Amino acid sequence: MVDDNVTPIRQQYLDIKREYPHTIVFFRLGDFYETFDEDAETTSRELEIVLTSRNVAKGVRIPMAGIPYHAAETYLARLIDKGYHVAICEQIGDPPKKGLVHREVVRVVTPGTVLEPELLKSERNNYLAAVWRDDKQAGFAYVDITTGEFAATSFDGPNIANLLRAEATRLQPAEILAADDFLPMDGLRGHKTQWAAWHFESGRCREVLLQHFGAASLDSFGLSSHGVVVQAAGAILQYLQQTQPAALQLLTTLSTYHARDFMAIDAVTRRNLELTETLRKGERKGSLLHVLDRTRTPMGRRLLAQWVSKPLLDVNEIQKRQDGVEALFTRGLLRAELADGLKALGDLERLTNRVASGTASPRDLVAIRSSLADLPSISALFSEPLPALSHILADFSICKAELTLLNESISDDPPATLQNIGVIRPGYSEELDHVVEASTHARDWIDNLEMVERQRTGIAKLKVGYNKVFGYYIEVSRAQAVNVPEEYIRKQTLVNAERYITPEMKEYETLVLNAEEQIRAIENRVFKQICQTIGASAELLLRTARALAELDALNSLADTAAIHDYVRPTVTDSLHIDIIEGRHPVVEQSLSSERFVANDAVLENGEYIRIITGPNMSGKSTFLRQVAIIVLMAQLGSFVPAKKAEIGVVDRIFTRIGAQDEIHAGQSTFMVEMVETANILHNATHRSLLILDEIGRGTSTYDGLSIAWAIIEYIHNHPALRARTLFATHYHELTQLSEILPGVRNYNVAVSEADGRPVFLHKIVAGAADRSYGVHVAQLAGLPRPVIQRASEILTQLEASSGSAVRIEETQVHQLALFPETNPLLQELESMDINTLSPIEALNKLYEWQKFFTHREKES
Ligand code: ATP
Repeated sequence: MVDDNVTPIRQQYLDIKREYPHTIVFFRLGDFYETFDEDAETTSRELEIVLTSRNVAKGVRIPMAGIPYHAAETYLARLIDKGYHVAICEQIGDPPKKGLVHREVVRVVTPGTVLEPELLKSERNNYLAAVWRDDKQAGFAYVDITTGEFAATSFDGPNIANLLRAEATRLQPAEILAADDFLPMDGLRGHKTQWAAWHFESGRCREVLLQHFGAASLDSFGLSSHGVVVQAAGAILQYLQQTQPAALQLLTTLSTYHARDFMAIDAVTRRNLELTETLRKGERKGSLLHVLDRTRTPMGRRLLAQWVSKPLLDVNEIQKRQDGVEALFTRGLLRAELADGLKALGDLERLTNRVASGTASPRDLVAIRSSLADLPSISALFSEPLPALSHILADFSICKAELTLLNESISDDPPATLQNIGVIRPGYSEELDHVVEASTHARDWIDNLEMVERQRTGIAKLKVGYNKVFGYYIEVSRAQAVNVPEEYIRKQTLVNAERYITPEMKEYETLVLNAEEQIRAIENRVFKQICQTIGASAELLLRTARALAELDALNSLADTAAIHDYVRPTVTDSLHIDIIEGRHPVVEQSLSSERFVANDAVLENGEYIRIITGPNMSGKSTFLRQVAIIVLMAQLGSFVPAKKAEIGVVDRIFTRIGAQDEIHAGQSTFMVEMVETANILHNATHRSLLILDEIGRGTSTYDGLSIAWAIIEYIHNHPALRARTLFATHYHELTQLSEILPGVRNYNVAVSEADGRPVFLHKIVAGAADRSYGVHVAQLAGLPRPVIQRASEILTQLEASSGSAVRIEETQVHQLALFPETNPLLQELESMDINTLSPIEALNKLYEWQKFFTHREKES
């Protein structure tokens, strides 16, 4: 549709914008990206930039907001972070003699399709995920276009929503494509992109996949020709076709996986155990990953995060990883040298992908070159054959040809972009050298001109200068103007000087200026060719990058194990958990003055359920989490913080731990507790590990106790369950269960008393606890003394009345506040040594007390 009233450029914009209605269009105009209309209002608001306006037709002004193109990345980052999508519309080709330069959207940047290093976190994958769900199943696919990872799976059964959530929580995609609202985003970091259902249409998705992989059937990818997995994966490809077509060529394969190949960790448990970030602040520091992460490369860091999020189930695979860790653990020198070698490497994985997708800059190639240059010395570290690492080293290439090419072709210190010349090393391209040489001669000629002309004309103060308007010129003072040779052509008159040019000089000037253009064009072309050659080796480079990532992640685990004194656990197919002197890897690091007290967790034969009682703050929760984390560490292939450990593989870890109920706004604490417990009872198997911390505490004592009791019975008696369970509770009554159910054992946290006060020993010992010390903890927490005293009185009465309908005796509540002992001033007076007090100190004290009283009266 052409509107005669608007300017041609407005029409061009409108035509393009029509294709991208829900996307902010960055429209390139010279050195700026401009936004118009509503887009301008949005960008100006979100980026706090000035909103101006522009005439687009007679008397019609529209809002406009622009950002300089060279600063676009920062602005882009902020928009993407807020969930906006941005279409980058560039000027294509040279401006024609008549009419408008052609403009085209070259890509659409969305949170999941970002390629710019500045917009990415090096320690984290940037996933784009897609979800499709029908009546029975859900398909889930994800891709990281910066690393080329592309994978898909499906879920079925009654619990699809939870399974999807668990997978999304594991991956934390930056963006999730879905046609519907069935995946609630709370607790997920990414942005949801609602995408029309027809993109997920089965036949269409199948076609897109077949075409992309150039395959005749999808069997080789482990996909049936239809089904939800194809739909999710096909939708991702279509989305990339629309947003980042250049990235598609990086996706050379699609791996299908089954969530059942990995330990299942639901979203709640992942958060409770603080695997990759802390519960409260969402920070990496304070998480298990933070303790384990001693990686030296970005790709190693990402891989380790994947391992921590995805513990294995297959004993052989676990042992293979452990072997790798052990090989490095037992070789301290190798470990240190490897860490040192890895330290200097760049993000070879993402850099390679940038080359392959055509977005690499000259400096990216330099980063690849310096990384490749370090490979021989890393490779030399493994001259002694190490069978445990041989499968990794088999994938490792020193990429000699690629390094040679980069050494020969790219300058030592090229400019950041191809806008400037000097990218290609002299000697690499004859054509380029030729032009450079010719222009060098011309430049030398111009450089010498001043000296030559001074001699020739005898004008000592003659100068050669340059400006943008006239190019090169010869400048002579007004007084000397009469002495200039006749071939000088006057170009400009200044107050005190005249400026001239000569035909010869202009020839050389043209040579220099044209040469620069020519050099830039040749360098661009040659650079592209180099990228293509390196891009053709992308697979080799990526395989090497991944091998390095694996070495880095294994070395990190070995290093952590050595530094924090971990041991290699024996992982078996049994149902054992035998942890001797286990420690909590994170809590032990956070204690500054105290020493962490190690605890055994040895489930006896026939023991499934361990009930742990003990005072508040004694270390029950720490112990429970510690067991879960040690199991998880063992299955991800790491060594564990213990003296010795045997772990029978756990298929799932479930946790029900209080304390973070605020996450589920709108549901009562107790409701959340019960929903989570129901999920556990429905989905746990006899291979699972259940961590139940204070179940039932969210309701009245008797209700809570009854529910907790029934849950333990259920876990114990249900033939499909009998899962290894640690159950911490304040309900002492539950300890009676050990007399009724043969698989239940009681443990408690030891407390000793000194001067009538409890001292928490943090030691888990056999038997039931006899007291709670809750009132004591309340006192430590600083509750007012009258409250503590009254609570102790009530507790004594309650204990005496053994749980029958209790009637609390009224005490002299009102008197309490006046009681001498409760008055801090009187206490201070009592403890004061009058004999050592100087008169002035006494006066100060009196003044302080008076102030205290006046203050109190005012408050009451
Ligand atoms: P509550 O019943 O109130 O939830 P709890 O018994 O679960 O308390 P934790 O939260 O596990 O207590 O531990 C309280 C604190 O005790 C921890 O923050 C830690 O500082 C310390 N602690 C726990 N276990 C140990 C240990 N094994 N060695 C040393 N300190 C420990």
